[in-house]
Amino acid sequence: MTQELPEQAGIAGQGLNAQDPITQQIHHPYSPPSGFEAFPPAVHKASTVMFKDVAALRSRMTQGKQGYTYGLHGTPTTYTLEQRIASLEGGLHCELAPSGLAAITIVNMAFLKAGDEVLLPANVYGPSKEQARTLLSGWGISWRLYDPMDPAGLAAMLRPNTRLVWVEAPGSVTMEFPDLTALVAAAKSQGAVCALDNTWGAGLAFNAFDFGVDVSMHALTKYPSGGADVLMGSVVTRDEALHQGIHQAHATLGIGVAANDCELVLRSLPSIRVRYDAHDQSARALAAWLGDQPQITQVLHPAVPGSPGHEHWKRHCKAAAGLFSVMFDARLEARQVDAFVDALQLFHLGYSWGGPMSLAVPYDLPAMREPAHCLPGHLVRFSIGLEAVEDLRSDLQQALQQAF
Ligand SMILES: *Cc1c(COP(=O)(O)O)cnc(C)c1O
Repeated sequence: MTQELPEQAGIAGQGLNAQDPITQQIHHPYSPPSGFEAFPPAVHKASTVMFKDVAALRSRMTQGKQGYTYGLHGTPTTYTLEQRIASLEGGLHCELAPSGLAAITIVNMAFLKAGDEVLLPANVYGPSKEQARTLLSGWGISWRLYDPMDPAGLAAMLRPNTRLVWVEAPGSVTMEFPDLTALVAAAKSQGAVCALDNTWGAGLAFNAFDFGVDVSMHALTKYPSGGADVLMGSVVTRDEALHQGIHQAHATLGIGVAANDCELVLRSLPSIRVRYDAHDQSARALAAWLGDQPQITQVLHPAVPGSPGHEHWKRHCKAAAGLFSVMFDARLEARQVDAFVDALQLFHLGYSWGGPMSLAVPYDLPAMREPAHCLPGHLVRFSIGLEAVEDLRSDLQQALQQAF
């Protein structure tokens, strides 16, 4: 079986025990000279990983990330991205998933079984709640929502079977920033695993593990990709035993990511801080400007004074991403707010965020939840892209003039 490849096979197929040109294609023995050095990591693609001999095949089944067994379980490209995401977030281990939601699934599958309970913040990423409501409860896992702005209330809710507590900072859509120190301590006070959805912070706004979280889940779809062209998620841990549970769930669920997708994220990662800071600066400028407009009664942006949890953000964070919501006056009609969103020209209508193009989404907040700290009204969420801030401001202004 073992065929030593010549350093450089001159003519195609030379030295190969095959006459047919297609057999020669498949077994082509050329191997490039060593010594190639370049900045980008190579893109390694494989379903099959080839073993040198039977002994190597048998010994590698148990190697974990010390070797390669099958494309699904990792290639040098996926391992490289895992290591870079772990290092970005200050963790040690990482598993990749084909979306942020799939990364949430891995965490749930790793730590929950029938009879257990999971707690979610009331402002949790919507599809995460939907997974608990449908799949998890169908499998005999119970779930409840807690108020993320009330750590003592969370501590009082814990039951002996509460196995996992999710935390988000800030919450989706309503953007409340919790007291992370107190909230994580409360989540862990009875031995549950505390998992943070770290998509907004991206490893840049704050260091999740400094607050004691056990697991950091991240939708790489957003800032790590930055291109609005990849779906990917990650699960980072520091603790070996927790990582083993996640690794096991990942491997047995059949979850893997494509090397070409990893390539895109690897290409974007070196610029993540400059992009994040640019999104952040423009978002703060536009949030402040919108807050001065007569139609808008509340700005929900953790870095804007007066926004729910602003003092926690100030204590915990170095930066603030490019995402915020505003509340239009309750006395305006919903169709006027819809007309405002439709009148935007540079802002497009769409979910996800972290890409170069600005986005806006109107939400029916009362149908989702009614947080005490939000004024009644019509909520629109903005994701600020990388366009010039003055162009975006003019676009908002013309849309306000058209709609109201
Ligand atoms: C986008 C997002 C996810 C899910 O990521 P996908 O890759 O779109 O599945 C999870 N959590 C938060 C906070 C997100 O914004």
